[in-house]
Amino acid sequence: QPNRKFQADLKKTRLTLSLQDKLVTYYKTSAAVPQMEQSCAKQAAIDICAELRNFIYNKFPDMPLRDMHLSGSLYDDLQVVRADHIQLMVPLSVERNLWSCVPGEETILNLPGFCLLRRENLEYFPRGTSYWDRCVVGGYLCPKAVVATFEKVVAGSINWPAIGSMLGYVIRPVVPSDSLILEVQYEENRRLFIDFLPLVALEDRTAVAKSHRLPRYGNMWRISQRGAETAALIGRDQHDLGCRSLCLKILKAVCRYNLPLSHLTSSHLTNILLHICEKESDWSRGVLADRFLQTLKETVGYLERGELPSAMDPKVNLFSELTAEEVDEMGYFLYSSLTEPEVLLRT
Ligand code: GDP
Repeated sequence: QPNRKFQADLKKTRLTLSLQDKLVTYYKTSAAVPQMEQSCAKQAAIDICAELRNFIYNKFPDMPLRDMHLSGSLYDDLQVVRADHIQLMVPLSVERNLWSCVPGEETILNLPGFCLLRRENLEYFPRGTSYWDRCVVGGYLCPKAVVATFEKVVAGSINWPAIGSMLGYVIRPVVPSDSLILEVQYEENRRLFIDFLPLVALEDRTAVAKSHRLPRYGNMWRISQRGAETAALIGRDQHDLGCRSLCLKILKAVCRYNLPLSHLTSSHLTNILLHICEKESDWSRGVLADRFLQTLKETVGYLERGELPSAMDPKVNLFSELTAEEVDEMGYFLYSSLTEPEVLLRT
């Protein structure tokens, strides 16, 4: 029945068209952060980063650090809903001959994507030779101890009210918290959270002091893939003027507004999109709704399998930090939304 098929196709086109329209509207009204808000938030972060740098270099001249810098979605124009968080990267300068990286899969904990930083050559260079020896626990550089060192400095010895009033912000360290976060009120009702992220740059990789969610992995450093993943996605878009970043931002907003999806992170979503890029070459704006639906379906698939391989290193399961219940709940929620994806666009 060609006519019936035509009718069905037309109906399908209308449905997709309208989802396409809804996605574009949703992006404009609910996901995108106004340019003005982005630049105010960035400026606050830049001001505070500069103050902190001066303070630490003056007060702790022997602390071996490389240039602290800002990073994260606010910097890559991938932040959604609110301009409210940014990472302050704090690169530790470590002696090459005193520290080595043990990949997580080679340790008894068998955890790809993470690593241990082992103190080497203790017989020739005894404890205390390296500044960072003070953060060693059981022979390994402990990310929590590194964060605690900065906490003492940043929360304990900096006069934030004075610096804040000089810069025109209200600044306070967030307590209690297991990482080091500064809360900056930069306008009447606008807050920015600056998250300290110590990092160690090794020969071929960078490890950040952001622990695994499960406490038994507390001594491990996270191998940072964020830069590479984000660059891969943005690079592909620049090459063909595609809608991958747009799709990512819409999905990020969906996960932020729908509580059951709160454990689905930007990193999960970016990796799923990168996997889809391997099999789909058309990312023109006109197929946004198709790619959005496809991403939802693929996400359900990964959740059903309980496994999401990293696009940068397939050994790494990006769901390793989620409990089986969290995976099931998200899978069920997303699966139920597939028949009527518009319900995900509530705010
Ligand atoms: P968003 O926070 O969801 O907008 O996404 P981002 O892409 O900004 O990711 C920030 C998250 O990734 C934070 O939780 C960071 O702690 C974590 N992260 C892990 N590695 C890195 C890294 O190398 N750089 C940055 N900026 N964040 C990282």
